[in-house]
Amino acid sequence: MRRTRRDPIVTTVLTLLVGALLAGGWWALRSDPAAPAPAPAQAPPAAQREVTAQHSRQADRPVPRTFDRSAHSTTDPSSTWVIVNKSHPITPSQFRPELSIVRGYQVADPAAGPLTRLLDASDRQGLGFKIASAFRSYGYQDSVHKQLVAAQGEAAADRISARPGHSEHQTGLAVDIVTPADGRCDFEPCFAGTPGGRWLAGNAWRFGFVIRYTPENEERTGYSAEPWHLRYVGPALARELRETGAGSLEEYFGVPGGDYPPVP
Ligand SMILES: [Zn+2]
Repeated sequence: MRRTRRDPIVTTVLTLLVGALLAGGWWALRSDPAAPAPAPAQAPPAAQREVTAQHSRQADRPVPRTFDRSAHSTTDPSSTWVIVNKSHPITPSQFRPELSIVRGYQVADPAAGPLTRLLDASDRQGLGFKIASAFRSYGYQDSVHKQLVAAQGEAAADRISARPGHSEHQTGLAVDIVTPADGRCDFEPCFAGTPGGRWLAGNAWRFGFVIRYTPENEERTGYSAEPWHLRYVGPALARELRETGAGSLEEYFGVPGGDYPPVP
C-alpha cells in the first residue's frame, strides 16, 4: 500500500487546528446554556406514546392497530388506567390525588380539563348537567359506609356503597352526573334512558370518559349499573374500549372483579 508522506510542519498545523476546533466546540457546549441537550436514550413518556399510537392508528388504517396495554399502570392509584374494585382496593389505602376544582368539585388533575370540556359540550346541548359527587376521601367514604352499615346492616350497605379504599371516587377520576332540572332519574337506573344519559353513553368517550358500570358488566365489575357514574381513563383507552367492544376495564385488562373476597 502506498502512503503519501506529509511535511511534518503541515501535520503539526493540522493537528493544532483540529484540536482547537474540538476544544472550541466543547467550550461552546459547556458555556452556552441554550445548547441543545443530547437526545435522551430512554423511551418517550407514556403520554407521548399514547398520542403517537393514536396518530399512527389514524394514519395506518386499515392496517391492524396495536395498542400498548402496558403503557400505564393499572395498580398505581395516580394512573388514569388504575382498576379499583371490590377485590382491588386502592393502595396505599389513604391515597389522595393531586386535585383541581371543576364547577365547585374536586377532581384529579388529569380529569379536570376533559371534564370541563365534556360539561361545556353538554351545556351546548342544553342537557342541564350538574356534578353531584367527585373526589371522596378515604375518611369520608369510611364515615358514609359506617353510617349505612349501622342503619341497614353490612350486606345492604355493600350493595349501595363501596367500602372505604374500594371506591373509584377516591382516585378523583370518577364523577357522578345529575340533571336537577328534571331529577326523577338522578341516581336511578332510568337515568340511562334520559336525554342526558343517552348523550353520555354516546359521547363521554370523546372526552376520555367511560360509563364504568353497565347492566352487562355487573358481575364482572361487582357493582350495579350506574349510568350516571363517569370514570376518566384518557381518550386513547376510551377509544380503544369502544372500538374493541370491551364492556369494562376488568374485561379489557383481564383483571378479576366481582364481590369482596370472603373474610378468612
Ligand atoms: Zn359514582
